[in-house]
Amino acid sequence: MTAFDPAIYRDPHAVATLCDAILKTASRPCRLMEMCGGQTHALLKFGVDELLREKVTFIHGPGCPVCVTPAGTIDKAIQIARQPETILTTYGDMLRVPGTMQSLAQARADGADVQIVYSSLDALNLARTHPDRQVVFFAIGFETTAPANAVALLQAESLKLDNFSLLCSQFRIPPALTSILEQPERPLDGFLAAGHVCAVMGTGEYHGISRKYQVPISVTGFEAVDLLLGVYQLVQALESRSYQVSNAYGRTVNAEGNPAAKALIDKVFEPCDRDWRGIGTIPASGWRLKDQFADYDADKRYILNEFCQEASSPCIAGEVLQGVKTPFDCPAYGHLCTPENPLGATMVSSEGTCAAYYRYRGVRR
Ligand code: SF4
Repeated sequence: MTAFDPAIYRDPHAVATLCDAILKTASRPCRLMEMCGGQTHALLKFGVDELLREKVTFIHGPGCPVCVTPAGTIDKAIQIARQPETILTTYGDMLRVPGTMQSLAQARADGADVQIVYSSLDALNLARTHPDRQVVFFAIGFETTAPANAVALLQAESLKLDNFSLLCSQFRIPPALTSILEQPERPLDGFLAAGHVCAVMGTGEYHGISRKYQVPISVTGFEAVDLLLGVYQLVQALESRSYQVSNAYGRTVNAEGNPAAKALIDKVFEPCDRDWRGIGTIPASGWRLKDQFADYDADKRYILNEFCQEASSPCIAGEVLQGVKTPFDCPAYGHLCTPENPLGATMVSSEGTCAAYYRYRGVRR
């Protein structure tokens, strides 16, 4: 048996046992938020939300980095891609996300050089093999992508590459969770923290949040049993009014996280205020490059015009991202807006909430 055997974590008997335990333990309904597109898709894919419907409502938070990247930042990427002798590299998911006037895919159709890569190191290799071109990597993501982006930048520095830079759109989860918990009408009773984020950062940032806001937090993975174990921990904590951080993903996450990855982040990035699409500015919720790496900062290399941060659209993705509404509340869902013809980022991205509903719940009212 390998260290990870999906069959164990999708075992029907374990799923049934955990569901039974959760439903028996919860004396009243509760609302649990996950802030990870992968977990949103897993909850719907395995039907966890429907199995627990009687007692648990899942609130899908702003956990998809493609979805929360503002239209204004996409506008900047398009301006860069239109520069002569410049290649804008990006993950494929970003291509069709609307900017203020157009998407990267539309800009590419108009002649801008936009190329899809699978990692920041792919972009770095492009810079090495095309010394006559400036290569800019659209560095989006949460805490999970920051270490690899830091590695690419440091390699560019050691190779003395002067044709590589990052357009940073890095987000941090804990400040976003804090912002949600500060709302007068708090939308959640417990929080499922994303296992891959905590594998990098550890659990230290969550203890203070749990204590201050009296909210239990459980670190969970991405399989049915992982998610149910996290829910069970939260339900037990709510019943005993025990507001602390627990770990349902011990095979991957420890309290400390990954010290080497955190050191890379600390070396290259510093916290900054960040705009979240449909939500607004959240203090200290992003990372930007430190001043010593300004030569690798596309925001500083290029003279970029400021645009308004939100595209005009009937899309209610901002409310979906904050867990205030579901895709079923959107009049465009499944009719005007589909994965083939998306109006908003949450339908474009493979991790988006609207895409998850469309894929696993179909069109219904
Ligand atoms: S269904 Fe489409 S239009 Fe409606 S909120 Fe989702 S992305 Fe926006």
